[in-house]
Amino acid sequence: MAYSKLVKPLSAELIQLTVLRRERLAPHWIRVTLGGGEIERFRPMGYDQWFRLFLPIGGDAGLDRVPAKANRLFGYLKFLRIPDGERPVMRNYSVRAFRPGTTDAAAELDVDFVLHGSAAEGTAGPASRWAETCEPGEHVLIIDEGLTFNPERGTERVLLVGDETALPAISSICESLPAHATGRAIIEVPSEADALDFAHPAGIQVEWIVRPHTEAPGALALAALRDVELPAAPFHSYAAGEQALASGARKLLVGERGVDKNTVSFCGYWRIGAASPTSKAAREAAAEPLA
Ligand SMILES: Cc1cc2nc3c(=O)[nH]c(=O)nc-3n(C[C@H](O)[C@H](O)[C@H](O)COP(=O)(O)OP(=O)(O)OC[C@H]3O[C@@H](n4cnc5c(N)ncnc54)[C@H](O)[C@@H]3O)c2cc1C
Repeated sequence: MAYSKLVKPLSAELIQLTVLRRERLAPHWIRVTLGGGEIERFRPMGYDQWFRLFLPIGGDAGLDRVPAKANRLFGYLKFLRIPDGERPVMRNYSVRAFRPGTTDAAAELDVDFVLHGSAAEGTAGPASRWAETCEPGEHVLIIDEGLTFNPERGTERVLLVGDETALPAISSICESLPAHATGRAIIEVPSEADALDFAHPAGIQVEWIVRPHTEAPGALALAALRDVELPAAPFHSYAAGEQALASGARKLLVGERGVDKNTVSFCGYWRIGAASPTSKAAREAAAEPLA
């Protein structure tokens, strides 16, 4: 298993949204703001809420054919029957921010995309490429998946660790925690400019690690975790990012540092050398963030 117990979404319907704008935040970051369409049906939960995102790589005709529950086994099998070229790309993303509608402004949902690989060499994934080039007015679909961050009620001390793909989730967790929460966040990013600042309780210490090109993603964050001073128990840990970081962090905390496994939420967000979802996830259910 590549992830821990999830908190179910409040609604798991297909929701159609429109790209409102796209903003370059840093060398490896693009923010895409979604809204319009059926946004009023989205139920924000804060923390690391994530969703399946269906991108219109084959145009709107492909989106129209996405079945309900395309994130579950039978729905996913139907989804795979949409012909190649028309079938939307399905990927997993986090809610970086949700602004409910007011009398003056409509609701909006921000998604922060890591730009990775090289479009020229064909190593950039379709979601990364789409984020860089999408235009206002394009349609997407989402299916809410709820939360991975799942502490005991009342736990206000945290240890958060992730690579850049987990930065939107860690930022939102910190923004969702009470102001008196304490602990530590260790976040690895590909450059100093990619360390996007975020609001966090004063008692949460944020440590940025800038990864040199020579290091495998996640390796330095994992090494930092080995020596980190753990918060006083009880505390809740959260690890997300490249698969070896997420599962390695859990193994290290539980196996070497004696942390209770029930107090660790973790999720493999992506895997070096493998497009998402992996073929195993596709075969088994597509219900897993990463198999
Ligand atoms: C619950 C969850 C929440 C997530 N939230 C976010 C989020 O908010 N923002 C975000 O950017 N990502 C997030 N991710 C990770 C994102 O889904 C993956 O990075 C995804 O693989 C990107 O799709 P793609 O089409 O660009 O690349 P893919 O087609 O999946 O992969 C193509 C190639 O690129 C490599 N690759 C994929 N991602 C990266 C990366 N980040 N860095 C370097 N190489 C990579 C793969 O190993 C593969 O070789 C999340 C994942 C999960 C499971």
